[in-house]
Amino acid sequence: MSNVALSLRGVKKTYKSGEDGTLPVLQGVDFTLHAGEIVALVAPSGTGKSTLLHLAGLLDTPDEGEIEICGQRTHGLPEVGRTALRRDQIGFVYQFHHLLAEFTARENVMLPQMIAGVRKADARQKAEKLLDMFGLAHRVSHLPGKLSGGEQQRVAIARALANNPALLLADEPTGNLDVRTADAVFSELMAAVRGQGLAALVATHNEELLTRMDRVVTLRDGLIVPR
Ligand code: ADP
Ligand code: MG
Repeated sequence: MSNVALSLRGVKKTYKSGEDGTLPVLQGVDFTLHAGEIVALVAPSGTGKSTLLHLAGLLDTPDEGEIEICGQRTHGLPEVGRTALRRDQIGFVYQFHHLLAEFTARENVMLPQMIAGVRKADARQKAEKLLDMFGLAHRVSHLPGKLSGGEQQRVAIARALANNPALLLADEPTGNLDVRTADAVFSELMAAVRGQGLAALVATHNEELLTRMDRVVTLRDGLIVPR
């Protein structure tokens, strides 16, 4: 197994905006995230954090450059291969939880497992174990709408971890929460990532949380640079 969880080489992304204007966002990003490494991405709004995370999560494709997930190249990889990598290697946490409203917390954590072919009873057991780890044993049968913001985000993190990914990508995962809740959820996220030896790239604005990261990078002029 490769000891590199995520590699970006010469990654460029330009959006079309306005009449025939173009907006270059990423202008040749080079970045390596090693297995088990936790890196914070701290940069002002609008600099391309979400763009970068979406590319790394194979939710979008770059205009140029190569993105490797756990040593596997993705340039030109057919959608079926991209889907398999997303499902098996990548956990993604959004700022807004994006839970499925009509499914319970438990079902939300079971679904990605069942899509990956895990038997229902096993998926259920794993979901309950993960939710218990985040202090939600008493909330497994709740619909997302009946949970607090912090609880919703904990379920979203449990869902991201459900298929034992090698790489966790989180886009301002506590950005919607009040400061105290954000601190608690972030601590639990970090403990889970460290406990499972995952690599993580986390976009965050929370300066106080950075001391717990291995490394902090920023985006400047469309490139990732040390901060
Ligand atoms: P951040 O997450 O750091 O706030 P984003 O990656 O969301 O930054 O956005 C970077 C820039 O690209 C912003 O100027 C944003 O308006 C623009 N942008 C993002 N997504 C699109 C899109 N799909 N089409 C056009 N412009 C976009
Ligand atoms: Mg963003």
